[in-house]
Amino acid sequence: MEISKEKVVSITYELRQDNENGELVEKVTVDQPLTFIYGIGGMLPKFEENLDGKKTGESFNFGLNSEEAYGPVVENAVVDVPIDVFKVDGKIDDNMLKTGNMIPMMDNSGNRLNGKVIEIKESAITMDFNHPMAGKDLYFSGKVTEVREATPDELSHGHVHGKDNCENGDCDDQGENGCNC
Ligand SMILES: [Zn+2]
Repeated sequence: MEISKEKVVSITYELRQDNENGELVEKVTVDQPLTFIYGIGGMLPKFEENLDGKKTGESFNFGLNSEEAYGPVVENAVVDVPIDVFKVDGKIDDNMLKTGNMIPMMDNSGNRLNGKVIEIKESAITMDFNHPMAGKDLYFSGKVTEVREATPDELSHGHVHGKDNCENGDCDDQGENGCNC
């Protein structure tokens, strides 16, 4: 089967920074391949474009420049967040608030995003909400390990069903919509 819209695609890959000889950033092996529904906006558009039409067993090598990947580093994505936001039951978790830590947060519209602690001040924390790979060129090399039809449930939930995803806690539904993953 070849990759096209609404197919469930599994791939293994190595992600390097800059180019094929760059620093290894991420290695996804066959034990835990990346599995996603193709063409529904879950992945970088240019990433998907480079996989279009590939079949099971086919390999791929392509680069994405920073514009095609996670965009430039944006200066105003570095903001001071009032320290009260970080209080749980009125207390600050010192283990969480350490320079360099990534903290999962939510913006005013309820979108999840990760912020990196840059500086800890008395009444505010300076957080960097740029994507860790912002401003970087990426190079992917890998192999398509499986292409299959998505089930109607997977398409209506917008994510892949399978035990790997549950173990990773990637399934947001947690039983809603009849999804028991
Ligand atoms: Zn589901």
